Amino acid sequence: MKSPKTLQQAIQYFSDEQVCIDAVAEMRWPNGVVCELCGGDSPYYLKTQKRWKCRKCRKQFSVKVNSIFEDSPISLTKWLPALWLIVNCKNGISSYELARDLGVTQKSAWFMLQRLRLALKARDFSYKMGSNEGGAVEVDETFVGGKTKNMHHSRKLKIAQIHNALPRWKSTDRYPGKTAVMGILDRESRQVRAKVVPNIKRDTLQTEILNNIHHGSRIYSDQAIAYDKLKEQYIHETVNHADEYVKGQVHTNGLENFWSLTKRTLTGTYVAVEPFHLDRYLDEQMFRFNNRTTRDNPLDDSDRFLLALSQVANKRLTYAELTGKVSTTQA
Ligand SMILES: [Zn+2]
Repeated sequence: MKSPKTLQQAIQYFSDEQVCIDAVAEMRWPNGVVCELCGGDSPYYLKTQKRWKCRKCRKQFSVKVNSIFEDSPISLTKWLPALWLIVNCKNGISSYELARDLGVTQKSAWFMLQRLRLALKARDFSYKMGSNEGGAVEVDETFVGGKTKNMHHSRKLKIAQIHNALPRWKSTDRYPGKTAVMGILDRESRQVRAKVVPNIKRDTLQTEILNNIHHGSRIYSDQAIAYDKLKEQYIHETVNHADEYVKGQVHTNGLENFWSLTKRTLTGTYVAVEPFHLDRYLDEQMFRFNNRTTRDNPLDDSDRFLLALSQVANKRLTYAELTGKVSTTQA
């Protein structure tokens, strides 16, 4: 596909719905369109209806079927620029900004962003980070959430309500209104993995470490007690944040950098995010961080966009799923 290079080019290029359909189809079915309903090959395109008809099952389907766009009445001419914005705006884009940019309601924009975050979710967390030959990995945890003292009373009440409604494993008693997040950064690949954790107890964090990091890796962390049992399976070096932030290789600066980017986005652009949705915002932040432009990996805006577009299929998120547990809207 001939791909636009800048936001302005993208908006112009994707202003034609057929161009959008072709672009999505090309990323979804690189070897030719296949029927999403029965797997039948070479369905024919009904130009006026902008849908394919399967020769085998005789059913019709659009390019949106079985993807994050499914059942959305919003045109791809709005969806694709929105995808461009979310992957390339350093600090994210709020539903208010997106609503203004696209001429949709804030509620629609919020829902679009949540679905787009699903596309940005990393494809594979099954491989382990580090290596059994001492591959260097940073591990750290942080708390994310509104500074409740600066909050309006009604907002505090709402957070308390949401907090009480959460399953126990998602609530953090120590820091009301804040959510514990654990992160791992592989120093070799410069990839980060972060997720919401129920608490920062030893068992919780060590389970995450065992699931995500090769035995024999070299782990750098702070001196949190939760890590004191790692010496049996890993080379573990700790930094005491109180005295010295960096001693040679022993630091967690890579993750600190990721936390500060994340917090800047969450407080600056998204204002306040309920714990229930935080993992999705982390998916978005991880996508931009793990696909950022570096000397070794010179990705541009267009590469990030195409990568994200290749991840839109076989994912669905309905409004009911999104709002069933927490009936609130946010930026
Ligand atoms: Zn079929």
